[in-house]
Amino acid sequence: AEFRFSDFEKLRVLGHGNGGTVYEVRHRRTAAVYALKVVNTDAADVSLRRQVYREVDILRRAVDSDHVIRFHAVVPTSSGDVALLLEHMDCGSLDVLLRRRGRPFPEPALAAIARQALLGLAELHSRQIVHRDIKPANLLINAAGEVKIADFGVGKVLRRSLDPCDSYVGTCAYMSPERFDPVSHGGDYDPYAADVWSLGLAVLELHRGHFPLLPEGARPDWAALMVAICFGEAACAVPEGAASGEFRGFIECCLQKDSGKRWSVAELLGHPFVAGADRVDSERALRDLLLEDSDES
Ligand code: ATP
Ligand code: MG
Repeated sequence: AEFRFSDFEKLRVLGHGNGGTVYEVRHRRTAAVYALKVVNTDAADVSLRRQVYREVDILRRAVDSDHVIRFHAVVPTSSGDVALLLEHMDCGSLDVLLRRRGRPFPEPALAAIARQALLGLAELHSRQIVHRDIKPANLLINAAGEVKIADFGVGKVLRRSLDPCDSYVGTCAYMSPERFDPVSHGGDYDPYAADVWSLGLAVLELHRGHFPLLPEGARPDWAALMVAICFGEAACAVPEGAASGEFRGFIECCLQKDSGKRWSVAELLGHPFVAGADRVDSERALRDLLLEDSDES
């Protein structure tokens, strides 16, 4: 179906990002609710325009993935901006959920989140897509407790060879050591393994209640991140007694500094923390957490 911007009624703002705003919208005729990501592509800003089309390209390729946000259409706006019509995830992103909750997520809920995010990454990686910006703000959840990967603004479809000169912005805080400092790691790196690091860090953040590599409340600056990511040892480890052995093991497998030792997505899907958790119980724990959250707000 063809969509026009005027077919939609804006209900509220869901979030802001790099050069754009995401709205909750209702399709007037069908009353269906969507998320509409409007990017202000100033005619002069070629790179932003390119970024939007890269995101569309990736979303089209990943269509039919259960753990990747659904993409419906590109909707032209009257002002010449580009808007992406996306599946609406009614419980928002995990960073907002964590901030509103104000305390760590319980392990069973984390097992459900980790499992679904890994399935999303498996779907992407099997299509040669690397996300490159996995973090709590880009993991969305709905009231059914489904977790999906969003925001392909810096994603990449790998062509035959990796271009080592390709520079891009990602969120430095969630970058793996080999991405943060490629020179010390031989210049070349496995982009799939870098997504695994970011996911491990995101899950650890939800467990700790704050970004795990810096003291709570600290503003992330480049130097402090460099030290924590590339040289810090203790920061990544979960202290004994703070979590189950399965959880600590899982995080350790994701946050191996040496990307060669880091587990792959397929291996992690078989890790006891994910595979050993009762699926029904962990998914219930996640939905319960959403209910608590809506009671409090
Ligand atoms: P970039 O990180 O490349 O700058 P962005 O951050 O501008 O992109 P998104 O991450 O796609 O764009 O969206 C920003 C925020 O809007 C998200 O963190 C989330 O809170 C909210 N959001 C985005 N898409 C949806 C959606 N489909 N359903 C619900 N909320 C959404
Ligand atoms: Mg984002």
